Amino acid sequence: MKVNFWTDTHAHIHDDEYGRNVDDFISMAYDKNVKRIITIGIDYDDSIKALKTAEQYNNIYAAVGMHPEYADKYTREKYYEQFYKLASNKKVVAVGETGLDFYYEENPDEKYQNILFEDMADIAGSLDKPLVIHSRNAVEKTVKILDKALEKHSSLKGIFHCFDGSISVLDWIKDKNFYISYAGNVTFKSAENLRQALINTPVDKLLIETDSPYLAPVPVRGKKNMPANVSYTGEYVAEFLNMPYNILMEQLENNLQKLMKGGLQ
Ligand SMILES: [Zn+2]
Repeated sequence: MKVNFWTDTHAHIHDDEYGRNVDDFISMAYDKNVKRIITIGIDYDDSIKALKTAEQYNNIYAAVGMHPEYADKYTREKYYEQFYKLASNKKVVAVGETGLDFYYEENPDEKYQNILFEDMADIAGSLDKPLVIHSRNAVEKTVKILDKALEKHSSLKGIFHCFDGSISVLDWIKDKNFYISYAGNVTFKSAENLRQALINTPVDKLLIETDSPYLAPVPVRGKKNMPANVSYTGEYVAEFLNMPYNILMEQLENNLQKLMKGGLQ
């Protein structure tokens, strides 16, 4: 498929914590040739907002899920069916974000995080939609849960979002339908480990994102991030990999459409 635009595969724009609005995000994104945005839910109410926003705009899609930070709010009885229903919607292209985060000590206990992540993986596998995985200080345990989920859903697929450079993951994804998404921090001067990972990421497994409102790339580092800025990350990655911009755009589009089974306009 020939395209000449970028997609921001991971942003939180439906409930911007700085009060900016979606119309502005879209028009600023268009100015930077960013024509599609996936907005990501972090808990049940937030996921409903993500879906509502996606339903209002042709070029916005939603992911619904619960972030590990809220894992102690999750119970199977209360939420499994609800998330399943929400995730079944046509405008929902992925399940997440979800995963494991052992970076902050105050995060919920591992047993809660495990149940949440296992259930989200089960929903994604059942609906044949990709998982959006947040994994921080948790690579081995993340992969362990995914391996277990793959026993039940052999075609389970997913995106390691805001990839942290864990080289063992690059090995693990090789024969699987899992993708690696780089955020704006790959452009940071200190991010030698991410660039090392980037060189070793197969180009047919590559995606990019902003994770707005966080992690604005160089040259807007330190500002509140927005989807338009994925163009900076795209240009940076293209130059780093020695690819013309349009060739990288096409490659990323093919990757995304493969992952979403052509379900994106
Ligand atoms: Zn996120």
